[in-house]
Amino acid sequence: MIRIKNVLTLEGDKIDFSLDSEEERTIDGKGLTLLPAMIDPHVHFRTPGLEHKENWETAAKAAIYGGITTVFDMPNTLPPTITLERVLEKKSLIEQQLKNIDIPLHFKLYLGADKFHFDQISLCKNQVVGLKVFMGSSTGNLVMDDDSSLHAAFSLAAAHDLLLAVHAEDEALIQERKVLFQHRTDPKTHSELRNDEVAVRATAKAIELSRLYKTRLHLLHIGTKREVELIRRAKQEGVFVTFETTPHHLFLTVDDYEKLGTKVQMNPPLRTQENAEALWEAIHDGLIDTIGSDHAPHTLAEKAQVYGKAPSGIPGVETTLPLLLDACNKGKITLKQIVRLMRERIQEIYRLASNDDFILVDMQKKATISSHSLKTKCKWSPYEGRELQGWPVYTFIKGKVYELSA
Ligand SMILES: [Zn+2]
Repeated sequence: MIRIKNVLTLEGDKIDFSLDSEEERTIDGKGLTLLPAMIDPHVHFRTPGLEHKENWETAAKAAIYGGITTVFDMPNTLPPTITLERVLEKKSLIEQQLKNIDIPLHFKLYLGADKFHFDQISLCKNQVVGLKVFMGSSTGNLVMDDDSSLHAAFSLAAAHDLLLAVHAEDEALIQERKVLFQHRTDPKTHSELRNDEVAVRATAKAIELSRLYKTRLHLLHIGTKREVELIRRAKQEGVFVTFETTPHHLFLTVDDYEKLGTKVQMNPPLRTQENAEALWEAIHDGLIDTIGSDHAPHTLAEKAQVYGKAPSGIPGVETTLPLLLDACNKGKITLKQIVRLMRERIQEIYRLASNDDFILVDMQKKATISSHSLKTKCKWSPYEGRELQGWPVYTFIKGKVYELSA
């Protein structure tokens, strides 16, 4: 049995409690706050095929250190997760890797929407947490850029009552704009090429398709003020739409290219400070539903290539919660809002069964993000060197306890 004493609840009450475990242990929780364990609904843990970047043995540790005990993994692996057979194969590979490190991480998979495999939607609907549609190209080759395929995906997802999660960038506009920027090699080009309009156009289209077919639409990694306004209106009009933002769209801006270059290249790209502020306002309004890390690691060597060759994506699963706890200490967000964005709304939107996992956070603890203490296989972070106040210090999953030393 594990006994936990003197912890504070979200309501500010001091409590003692115990939980069934093979371990015999007492934890003095003086000064610590009890929160439910968080969920990361958007990760790329790279199995199968891209395991030089990440695997579940390293990523599961990173998740635990980030106060996260449940993750939803994206389908753009090698090969991509686009059939029932691939879903089942991937599940068993993940289960084996988790067994190797003895971490019982909860996980769900997305099915990748592919125009040649629409028959797989009905076969996979009870095996996956949602259907992922890439409207714009990103890592892998799952882009669905023609209208008839998009209509089919939205109508089939609605017919099978499956959540449809969208990467909303307009592929035709990206290709058109690539010509204009082909002479440019500075990393900042990325945000100019894939500008607000690229995202807005796709988001508007996705909302209209959801309105038409009554699809459970969840828009991923929304980063612009114009999209927030489109979604605000659509919600008011009763369209079935919810949305996610990412830590990098809250804590990084286009100004970070200067210091970090292609390290902070991701899709959709970084936006201006004005856009980040609009996202913070939307958190205050309760308009944003979820935060997902979009943990998409690449090796430092891959990232060191010039703009145009360097891949898009950054790690984030273990830094999302500490960044938000630090923002809480700075008065930008409340603990209740964090729990809503990183747990409760995700359970509601994805219709997830609840669990008893929890974490203890130390809102006074100060520590600096440093690459050598990170658990992710890629061993770097765009937030390297940031001193944050507010860290998870214990993660409890299925009766197991992890003490998170720095
Ligand atoms: Zn992603």
